[in-house]
Amino acid sequence: MRLTAATRLAGVVGHPIRHSLSPVLHNAWLEAAGLDGAYVAFNVAPERFSALIEGFRGGSLAGLNVTLPFKTDALAAADQVSPRARAAGAANVLVFGEDGTVRADNTDGEGLLYAFARQAPGFRPGSGPLVLYGAGGAARGAAAAFLEAGCPEVRILNRTRARAEAVAQALGGRVKALDLDDAALALDGAAALINASSAGLGPDAPPPPDLSGAPAGAVAMDMTYKPLRTPFLEAAAARGLATVDGLDMLIGQARPAFEAFFGCPPPAEPDVRGIVLRILGEAT
Ligand code: NDP
Repeated sequence: MRLTAATRLAGVVGHPIRHSLSPVLHNAWLEAAGLDGAYVAFNVAPERFSALIEGFRGGSLAGLNVTLPFKTDALAAADQVSPRARAAGAANVLVFGEDGTVRADNTDGEGLLYAFARQAPGFRPGSGPLVLYGAGGAARGAAAAFLEAGCPEVRILNRTRARAEAVAQALGGRVKALDLDDAALALDGAAALINASSAGLGPDAPPPPDLSGAPAGAVAMDMTYKPLRTPFLEAAAARGLATVDGLDMLIGQARPAFEAFFGCPPPAEPDVRGIVLRILGEAT
């Protein structure tokens, strides 16, 4: 990669950030497109986040992806907020205008639908209720994206029920908070099941939810992509459901961000999924 005085710079900010795969994706696309650009990672302490954003006002940086724990702070820091970022209650993209303004967007929902389109091509979000496990920022973004795409009902099951109720309150009447142990009610007629919990996979992690009552035609998706085949997806596959992994969501949310930062869509080649799978040690 050749950097010049005209190099267009973008990045990702989080805390911690060393695990981020965003630099791999964006730099692979930049190199393939032959663009004079670079994408780097910023690890910033929570109390320094606002100062970092203020420092980039004016366009010294084209834009930032934003990851944990700053997605709600990013929304608050922006001068302009897209409707989908407003609906998600969080921003994963900030674009710095030359006039000093900061625009916030949320491409996670677009990434989610991209993953379904890639791995479950016949699936239609409007075909039935969505069951969501988790009620954090990613779950709220998923609910908003599915509602926007015509989903008739979203049922949220979360460890902390009050948080699920808050999401239902924010997104309106088609979203319902249910008890975690109300699996039969939650799964009745469901078209899609999405695991948006960050519970992890360690010895203390809860077991995957009971999916035995899921309709045979439902599609199950897990936002986690380390590992690619999570216990949730294994449980869904054991039930005979079609599955969608979280890696295409990561790629799908990065694609519109790349276009916002560098002014053109990412090139079709290289196969960034293959590159990331090799990094994760999951290549077949
Ligand atoms: P948040 O921290 O906002 O929410 C975490 C959610 O997980 C909450 O609902 C929380 O429940 C639940 N949870 C955490 N630990 C446990 C536990 N031990 N038992 C039960 N529930 C638990 O995170 P996000 O919403 O931002 O992200 C959720 C997941 O989605 C993360 O793993 C993230 O990496 C992934 N993600 C993947 C993306 C992709 O591109 N593939 C994009 C965005 C996110 P409670 O409310 O009770 O605390």
